[in-house]
Amino acid sequence: MLSLDEVQLTQLKGVGEKLAAVLHKLDIHSLQDLLFHLPFRYEDRTRFLALNQFRVGQHGLFEASIVKHSVVFGRRRSLEVIVQDASSTQVTLRFFHFSAAQTRQLDPGRVLRAFGEARLGRNGVEFYHPEYQVLSGDERHEIPDMLTPIYPLTEGIQQPRLRSLCKQALSWLDRCDIQDLLPDFVRTEYQLPALKHALKYLHAPPTDADQSALFEGRHPCQQRLIVEELLAHHLSLLKLRSKQRAHPAKPCSPTPDTRTLEARFLNALPFTLTDAQQRVANEIKQDLSCPLPMLRLVQGDVGSGKTVVAALAAIQTIAAGGQVALMAPTEILAEQHLSNFKAWLEPLGITIAWLSGKSKGKQRAETLALILDGRAQITVGTHALFQDDVVFQALTLAIIDEQHRFGVHQRLALKNKGAGLVPHQLVMTATPIPRTLAMSAYADLDTSVIDELPPGRQEIETFVLPDTRRLEMVEKVQKSCAAGNQAYWVCTLIEESESLQCQAAEDAAAWLTSQLPTLVVGLVHGRMKAKEKSFIMAQFKAGKIDLLVATTVIEVGVDVPDATLIIIENPERLGLAQLHQLRGRVGRGSKKSYCALMYHAPLSQHGKERLKVMKESNDGFIIAEKDLEIRGPGEVLGTRQTGLVEFKIADLLRDKGWLPQIKAIAAKLEPDSLIEERLIGRWLGERSHYAEV
Ligand code: ADP
Ligand code: MG
Repeated sequence: MLSLDEVQLTQLKGVGEKLAAVLHKLDIHSLQDLLFHLPFRYEDRTRFLALNQFRVGQHGLFEASIVKHSVVFGRRRSLEVIVQDASSTQVTLRFFHFSAAQTRQLDPGRVLRAFGEARLGRNGVEFYHPEYQVLSGDERHEIPDMLTPIYPLTEGIQQPRLRSLCKQALSWLDRCDIQDLLPDFVRTEYQLPALKHALKYLHAPPTDADQSALFEGRHPCQQRLIVEELLAHHLSLLKLRSKQRAHPAKPCSPTPDTRTLEARFLNALPFTLTDAQQRVANEIKQDLSCPLPMLRLVQGDVGSGKTVVAALAAIQTIAAGGQVALMAPTEILAEQHLSNFKAWLEPLGITIAWLSGKSKGKQRAETLALILDGRAQITVGTHALFQDDVVFQALTLAIIDEQHRFGVHQRLALKNKGAGLVPHQLVMTATPIPRTLAMSAYADLDTSVIDELPPGRQEIETFVLPDTRRLEMVEKVQKSCAAGNQAYWVCTLIEESESLQCQAAEDAAAWLTSQLPTLVVGLVHGRMKAKEKSFIMAQFKAGKIDLLVATTVIEVGVDVPDATLIIIENPERLGLAQLHQLRGRVGRGSKKSYCALMYHAPLSQHGKERLKVMKESNDGFIIAEKDLEIRGPGEVLGTRQTGLVEFKIADLLRDKGWLPQIKAIAAKLEPDSLIEERLIGRWLGERSHYAEV
């Protein structure tokens, strides 16, 4: 039997180069791709509805004879066709786009067959642009005996054309072999239909198919393909992981030295680690002791104390003679890490270097020399550390804070800095990714979760109020700061325009200074010089500034435990995860903290819902789940950044229940089997760029 892989798209009737090019836009390059281009909904055109049976909003097929047609001039010119059927009901078909030729066909008395949605229009029940054909007496017009598929389209192709191509593809499917790539044990265990059956069913479901199941993606035939696709994606990530782990790393087993340094570090801390920190630190310790590169993602809600855990990893690495890089996405955050690490590790005799995009000239050259000859045991910095001319003596551990800002590819750029060995990688994120999703988006990483906040933290109380109540907030700042606390005032204007945002912050700072003459008001924003910024941050941290007016530059990581009030302007413009981050600037000590979300009316329904979520929850994971529901996985995970590709049929949110099973299935597959390659090829095709990294 011919294998389906051997059939070219152009072997289909009617497909020339021009149509093939259109199909390419839909990611259809082969007959197989065409068969996997599935309908996203169906219409029932198998039986007629009498016109008096239609309810508004209902789709259906009907036959009726033309009473008259005319062009009417309203707000928009339209062609009105009045028809009447056997139930003696008259309705109007209305066309805003029409041609003279079309009009000529519509003589009174002729019968037409149409499919459309009943709506309420100026003449009562109307159908706008129904699909129709005028019947000629002698032809036989068949009624389809299956549900009519509606496919995703692109410019240059319409439903009827795509439908007929898929029909042809199905007839090839009858004559060809298509390999069922799901192992038998999977099909049996989950009672999934065979591939051929599933494809045929989904392109041409029988009239009695469970339409609501199909619509919701619950039908076994869909499930079967969803499982296959999720599995393909999972396998491609695992492949990436095994590629990375194909090279050795420097094992950093704990020595007596390690234990001494660790003990000195922990004893100097003003607190003890939480159980969760302890557990995650141990997981990292195990990884670092292995001669294979660690690939670990540490997720911990805002304020859960990830930095200390990172410091422990650094200590273990350095005690074993290794070199560490610590990278943060913003200058402010990197500087904060620098000052923490200096305070913690310099007393232990560890040398720390600093490299940011702003390091220039002689200073930069000196730092590079320190990094190259290995005297810099830890280098803290921004993405400047990824640059090619930053050469380590032998990078052993790369710690990356706030992963969502860096891409998989940047992360991988580091793997070449280990002088023959691959560096261990520790990725820390406070953007809580729903657990199930993390498994799929970061299958190349092991995940640890710090699921506990340090003791004594109190829930942040969140208010939602319109910006017409700005003066009340000023008063609140006054009171709170007079009582010895500190506050943030965050200006979030239009995100795309940093300069406007900075301007807004400057204006707000000037206004607040005039309103609060007894307080010291400071200002930070992205366009200030690094030196100025860090000076202001240091002043704020030292308690010399009462109110800090800022743009979203303070979004991640900034840690000032005495700050107990944060006012966020225009919160309706920000994502929930970002709001949660911002809110996390307060509530970092044991004092009760408050967050005011000061929106600009009117709020959309969406906006209301989102702010309500913020008001009701302090839990990053719950917020992330809601965010996902509202915005979808692509945006939450940053499709481009994570290297996560789009799915053809699966929907991570809808189908997340499958993810644990997918993991289990993948584990049972024979390693390096051909099935893996074929699955990845079938579902990711040319998009399986993981293979290249
Ligand atoms: P994040 O996970 O958001 O990066 P940080 O590492 O900045 O959190 O820690 C937040 C604050 O909590 C810091 O001031 C830190 O010193 C403090 N902290 C960390 N661990 C503990 C702990 N076990 N007990 C008390 N405070 C802690
Ligand atoms: Mg942090």
